[in-house]
Amino acid sequence: MTVFFVGAGPGDPELLTVKAARLLAAAGFIMYAGSLVNPEILSVANPKARLVDSAGLDLEQQAAMMAAAVQEGLTVVRLHTGDPSLYGAIQEQRDALCSYGVDSSVVPGVSSFAAAAAAVGRELTLPGVSQTVIITRLAGRTPVPEKEKLRDLAAHHASMCIFLSVGMLDRVAEELLAAYPPETPAAIVEKASWPEQRVVAGSLAELSALGKEAGITRQAVILVGEFLGSREYERSCLYDASFTHGFRAGKSEA
Ligand code: SAH
Repeated sequence: MTVFFVGAGPGDPELLTVKAARLLAAAGFIMYAGSLVNPEILSVANPKARLVDSAGLDLEQQAAMMAAAVQEGLTVVRLHTGDPSLYGAIQEQRDALCSYGVDSSVVPGVSSFAAAAAAVGRELTLPGVSQTVIITRLAGRTPVPEKEKLRDLAAHHASMCIFLSVGMLDRVAEELLAAYPPETPAAIVEKASWPEQRVVAGSLAELSALGKEAGITRQAVILVGEFLGSREYERSCLYDASFTHGFRAGKSEA
């Protein structure tokens, strides 16, 4: 009696985990977030599976349908984009399923922030530049706790991945510019890993204009931080020839 909350990854079907592909192929019932999940991913699903787009359903309807499918004895997959633990609203679904006596488990996925970093070809944790990644969003209809205001988070000058906010670029830029210098590099990655992926990059001061010019209004991650531009960084200790660790003895320095 289990529902599998499965990460679909950012879009490219090859970024499904082996476990996700296996469960999709075995599923008798799949509920997916139609507004975000790449329809191509459903082509790996069991052709006999009942497919339900969650877009038009409220929480109670979703839980009732999933619980009924489990009770029919079907393998039930609830498919979320990226990794289900980020902005997936899975906690409330899991709790609602619990009230039907239905357990659930989570199969992690490749989050879109990782696909966005891959798209720009940069490391988020560049030694000597940033060792911290902040994943956040601007408050929209979903509020963000006061203590997590974007401008306060930006004060750390860490690497930032901003979800669900590309439709509010002016506000994003205003908040970030309260803390970062205007020349800080920034990028918007739309539909990371999809065939139609687009990247626009520039300085933070240009961010809003760049995004609007490109007409990017949804399904994009905003990346901000020196990790995007910095040609100067420290090399990691891990691969340094003189560094000894559990798996390799360092060469002694001359
Ligand atoms: N659980 C998902 C996030 C879901 S919230 C994850 O881990 O990626 C939806 C937001 O995710 C979108 O507004 C956008 O900010 C981001 N997103 C999802 N897929 C994306 C993609 N392929 N490229 C860029 N951003 C994406």
